[in-house]
Amino acid sequence: MKKHKLLLSLALIVILVVAAMLLLAQPAEAPTASTNTPKPAPTAAKPATSFNKSEFSRTDPASIWVIVNKQHQLVPKDYVPADLVVPTIPLRVPGNESMQVRQATATALEAMFAAAKEQGLNLMLSSGYRSYTYQVNLYNGYVASQGQATADTQSARPGYSEHQTGLGADIEPASKTCELEQCFSATPEGTWLAANAYKFGFIIRYTINDQAITGYEYEPWHVRYVGTDLSTELHNTHVDTLEQFFDVTGGKDY
Ligand SMILES: [Zn+2]
Repeated sequence: MKKHKLLLSLALIVILVVAAMLLLAQPAEAPTASTNTPKPAPTAAKPATSFNKSEFSRTDPASIWVIVNKQHQLVPKDYVPADLVVPTIPLRVPGNESMQVRQATATALEAMFAAAKEQGLNLMLSSGYRSYTYQVNLYNGYVASQGQATADTQSARPGYSEHQTGLGADIEPASKTCELEQCFSATPEGTWLAANAYKFGFIIRYTINDQAITGYEYEPWHVRYVGTDLSTELHNTHVDTLEQFFDVTGGKDY
């Protein structure tokens, strides 16, 4: 009698387990059974293919995507941005014309400096907007002291500087450690900037391995505002330069 009862119980348990398995399996299988459409493309591939490279102009000097390099002079060459402001961040030369940037750049710089400060890192704006006339004097100074060939690797000719767009900025530690020197890249501030600038719409414009493409030596301190859509796309696709991304000419010579 006892044995018979036990077998009956076991049979009941088996039936219950099978019923439970069938019930559980039902919802999981339902979607695939009811959809005959092909599998959607992996979402990871979507941003790369859907990025619109023509969203903004690359020749309008007021565009956040404007290309300025030794093959692309600003048009007009004496362009002046209409919305220059002084950002609310530590400034290297308060009151100087070069402490201005465009409004969008200023907002992004303020957010980036605040984020750096949360990590205990104090950044300072070394140089932002430079007018055509300012660049004439700066470039001529380099030519006088080092000759034109060397000057061309270190300073843009008038009308060819990203600083004239109000979208370029030189950043340094508030301590002035490695001020406008390549060793800035090894400072905590430089390391943080390289890793985080893209989150705020900036790129390190003159990268270490791309002198032949950008025309400039490595400048870990020079950031260029392009907006977060483009800076994130460049970051995600591991593309260093605007020239490569947009397939436009750059290079060492004018
Ligand atoms: Zn610069």
